[in-house]
Amino acid sequence: MQSVPEEWREGRDEGMGEMLVKRRGDSECSSGEMKGEWKKNAGTGGEELEKETLMMELTRMVQRMVKESSWWERRGIDCSILAAAFLCLPPAFLLLSSSQIVWFAAGMLLMGVAHAVITVKGTHLASHGALSESQAWGKFWAIFFIEICGSFSARAGVQGHIKMHHAHTNVIGLGDSSVWKVPFLPRTVYLFVAPLAVPVITPLVALAQLKGHSLAHIIRTILMVTLGLYSQYWLLIHVSGFKSPHSALLFMLICRAMFSVPYIHVNIFQHIGLPMFSPTRRPKRIYQMTHGVLNLPRNPVLDWTFGHSLINCHVEHHLFPFLSDNMCLKVKPVVSKYLTEKQLPYQEDSYLSRLNLFFNKYQELMVFAPPITELVGVQ
Ligand SMILES: [Zn+2]
Repeated sequence: MQSVPEEWREGRDEGMGEMLVKRRGDSECSSGEMKGEWKKNAGTGGEELEKETLMMELTRMVQRMVKESSWWERRGIDCSILAAAFLCLPPAFLLLSSSQIVWFAAGMLLMGVAHAVITVKGTHLASHGALSESQAWGKFWAIFFIEICGSFSARAGVQGHIKMHHAHTNVIGLGDSSVWKVPFLPRTVYLFVAPLAVPVITPLVALAQLKGHSLAHIIRTILMVTLGLYSQYWLLIHVSGFKSPHSALLFMLICRAMFSVPYIHVNIFQHIGLPMFSPTRRPKRIYQMTHGVLNLPRNPVLDWTFGHSLINCHVEHHLFPFLSDNMCLKVKPVVSKYLTEKQLPYQEDSYLSRLNLFFNKYQELMVFAPPITELVGVQ
């Protein structure tokens, strides 16, 4: 039997009514005067007799689709993709032992892709508990994917991603994506060079996040992260025949950094530059997510490595964060049609267009404090 997740009950207080969008001057604007124009956004007012709210209606439609879906659709497809990534590892280690450059390059590519699938798609789904219906297994997968495979702290990952980013999407000071900003770096370095250090920075940030936790938790995390890093190193030396520790470590860095440039890009493209909200005047959930989240188009490489919920179904993912990648893809037509019908935003932009925007407006988007948007419901 399918239990009803906590999130289904969210958003029951979503407001109806006509909405106005106003953009207020950013926090650097000392006068605090209104900047930008008022824009009429969604006109659904007047339905006094209609008791249910927009979020509840949409949730019901999505819930129905989930109930009608098989286990294969709900979890099987994504679990199979992750399993396939693990199955790619033995041939990858063996290919790397070849003295032929073509086979070696194939092994490197295979390991880089498998690593991205496991550490981006896998850790993300595991942090949401989307890989299993059992809580105990959910915890196991979170530690396995986030700590052993992803070299990060599972607790810090869940805290940062679920409790801050998802719960407070685009709310200034809480889920405003400012964690991704490194204002002292020039744009070219930030966008194309610094991401290559992600595999080194990740375990160091994990260590810093352990401060204040129990000794048992600290020891477990350090052991799990070490286990993940050391097992890849050991296999490179003993199976792939790497001759020196330096060459094995350099290879690990190359393979782990293979997708870190698009990883950083995707993380900033889908939220920064969109409306940001004040913690004291935050909009209802459906407005928060439709205004503050953007979808990128489908992309065969990123669909597989990062997963639909991070690429072309990010809006769906923020509205229904417990759905697997495949279920996000399945409900996408219903969600996009519903939001369009209700005259709510359904934001989409191409990867290159976002890259162009971030490159040309780097100061405004990644250095200065973002402006606050207020969505004012007129009942
Ligand atoms: Zn997420």
